[in-house]
Amino acid sequence: MNNPLPLLEEEGAEFLGQDAGIDRVSVLFTMPLPEPFDYKAPSSWGLVEGSHVIAPLGPNLYHGVVWRIDRDAPGAANLKSIDAVMESAPPLPEESRNFIEWSAKYVCTSPGNMLRMVLRSPEALAPSPVIITYAPATQVDVKMTDARSRVLAAAAEKADTPANLARRAEVTGSVVKGLIGAGALVRIDRLEDEPYPEPVLYPPPLAGEVAASRSEAPEGELSSVAAPSVSFADSSPVNGGALRRLSDLQQSAADELIAAVEKNEFRVALLDGVTGSGKTEVYLEAVAAALARDPTAQALVLLPEIALTQAVLERFESRFQTRPVEWHSAIAQKSRRRAWREVAAGRARLIAGARSALFLPFPNLRLIVIDEEHDPSYKQDEGVAYQARDLAVARAKQSDAVVVLASATPSLETFANAQSGKYAHIKLPVRHGVAVMPDIELVDMRMDPPDRGRWVSPKLTRAAAEALARGEQALFYLNRRGYAPLTMCRACGEKMKAPDTDSWLVEHRYSGRLVCHLTGFTMPKPKECPNCLAPEPFVSIGPGVERVEEELREMFPQARTEVFSSDTVQGGDEVRALVERMAQGEIDILIGTQIVAKGHNFPNLTMVGVVDADLGLKGGDLRAGERTFQLLSQVSGRAGRAERKGRALIQTYAPDEPIMQALKHQDRDGFLAAEAVAREQMGMPPFGRLGALIVAGPSDQLANEAAGTLGAAAPAADGVDVWGPAPAPLAVIRGMHRRRFLIRADRNVDLSAYITAWLGRVKLANSVRVQIDVDPYSFL
Ligand code: ADP
Repeated sequence: MNNPLPLLEEEGAEFLGQDAGIDRVSVLFTMPLPEPFDYKAPSSWGLVEGSHVIAPLGPNLYHGVVWRIDRDAPGAANLKSIDAVMESAPPLPEESRNFIEWSAKYVCTSPGNMLRMVLRSPEALAPSPVIITYAPATQVDVKMTDARSRVLAAAAEKADTPANLARRAEVTGSVVKGLIGAGALVRIDRLEDEPYPEPVLYPPPLAGEVAASRSEAPEGELSSVAAPSVSFADSSPVNGGALRRLSDLQQSAADELIAAVEKNEFRVALLDGVTGSGKTEVYLEAVAAALARDPTAQALVLLPEIALTQAVLERFESRFQTRPVEWHSAIAQKSRRRAWREVAAGRARLIAGARSALFLPFPNLRLIVIDEEHDPSYKQDEGVAYQARDLAVARAKQSDAVVVLASATPSLETFANAQSGKYAHIKLPVRHGVAVMPDIELVDMRMDPPDRGRWVSPKLTRAAAEALARGEQALFYLNRRGYAPLTMCRACGEKMKAPDTDSWLVEHRYSGRLVCHLTGFTMPKPKECPNCLAPEPFVSIGPGVERVEEELREMFPQARTEVFSSDTVQGGDEVRALVERMAQGEIDILIGTQIVAKGHNFPNLTMVGVVDADLGLKGGDLRAGERTFQLLSQVSGRAGRAERKGRALIQTYAPDEPIMQALKHQDRDGFLAAEAVAREQMGMPPFGRLGALIVAGPSDQLANEAAGTLGAAAPAADGVDVWGPAPAPLAVIRGMHRRRFLIRADRNVDLSAYITAWLGRVKLANSVRVQIDVDPYSFL
């Protein structure tokens, strides 16, 4: 392998002594190998555990990380040599290495695979480029012209590159060059990746504000760096915004979290607050306390879909007067390098990120906040499957840190832990300020059906009309992108499917295409049926958001109507713009998929209509009920976030189902209790453990054979049930034929060890893939 990374000059250094001065160095490579490999390196190289090195493996050289060092190890001289040290790469901190080892075991992958996830941004291993800038010399001794003095003035304001100076001073490059040549501008080298500004933890109170004395710190605890207990959050990043003071209820929730942080030991707290209760304001105080306690402490806030929900980052910015360091898939390579390196160096202190941010190389992570902890986006199903929330708790346990799990609709896992006292349970039962929870009504679609060919019941249209008449806004929710989920030939009944995947193609009218939502495959909508060749034969079956939009536009031709889904807005900027338009009242009716459920505040939105509440309940998923309840509560919670009371109407064909009744009566705890009973009876999570193996082969036969081999090798163990193999509900994806095993185990069983032992017994054909998913969320 050609490694593009910079190497140390000592490449190929000779080893002279025998054992003295020679260390045994175990190196973990970013490959699916079971363990690190041993090499020798002279002690004089100054390697430390975590150093990045280049070492030979077979005929090639690879990048790896030093996992262990035995100083002056007997016999080390006979080992192969490390080839080079990557000096410019910041060593991987101990916390990070421990986490890699633990999590690899837990998710049943090799530590090398886990390391690969941690080092997913190879650019981070190279040093920051240097930017050459110029500032005025102390003594300027040149003939002055107007152009020259403009350049010097610009450089005095801010040292800059020659090109920028020329642009800012509106002169040609030769003027700047002349000044450099004459010694009137002097060179200053600056790193492109500058350290991030420090968060301002406790801005001084404005005149007139009196900081109340803080509540007593627990006995024997550090109090010298203790924060004032009155918390301020400037509502605008640019000064001048009104200072925000926590309500008594919020303050006591914040105090509990702060006390946990100050204990400096492993703790998990569920911050359980209704939508709009101010959970964000509260956990930001815990962040401030964690960072104030120790000048090297780091805090990580995980946010679902962070690339799309930037508004919350603005709130961080107004609280800490600087933006948090961001980490998610949409950030540019340069920012990635800067973030990764600054985190590893311990200088980046407040990080906001998507699930993958958990794998950043924090040397001193003291607090992890998981906002909307129930959100399914914390679960990664592909590649190395993991649940970031669960791994975050394990990560915190290893380093005696605190975890705050925030949600209005906690997962059953978290709720059960809070009920049993394992997690602290901190409640915020009311909305902040004057906002009150909306009324939730069920619309029985059997009694109040929509007109033929329509999807929205007259009850909902009436409620929307009333809201619009009062100058308020309406939101319609349907968790289905596109126009229609199924396109069928009227003549022969052919259902349009993706060529290599066992799923229906979804019609998208805006783009005129049929799209597979699973693999992203798309094709233009054909003019004739591929099966019977009938011309223009297609009917669109079922609704997607585009279809609901069509209907509402007909019904409310005057209203300004928009669709909010990942097809209509791409990327953070477009989402921000749309959210802003909605918040400013420039949209009357918004129709959205689950993207609208996430944390947006629309003060003038008073009516929410759920078009198909039953949708998520189909499919036999373990968490289908829980997820539906969460999503519908979240979506309903968008209504009435300011002075005006909101109203949510939920269309369902099963209004008597316990879940619909729980939604109507806003009886979340009742719902969770019933869910818990059902899961406990089945020994399902969180009362039992679950794992999945998905065997995929390039043909039906190969998949069957592999599944048969695997099934026969399943170890017998007490408290473990193995179900399968069964054809996966999505039997073919991208041409791979899939079979599933489901493993249920009692809580006290080490499920990961069981699965690892099982797979260690079999050798499958190279073309067959086995995906391991400990605690699966997807059953497809
Ligand atoms: P949650 O995360 O619980 O849904 P948020 O933290 O988003 O709630 O707060 C809801 C809204 O109320 C936000 O607009 C927030 O700025 C506002 N808010 C919450 N607490 C306060 C406070 N103490 N002072 C002023 N505004 C607040």
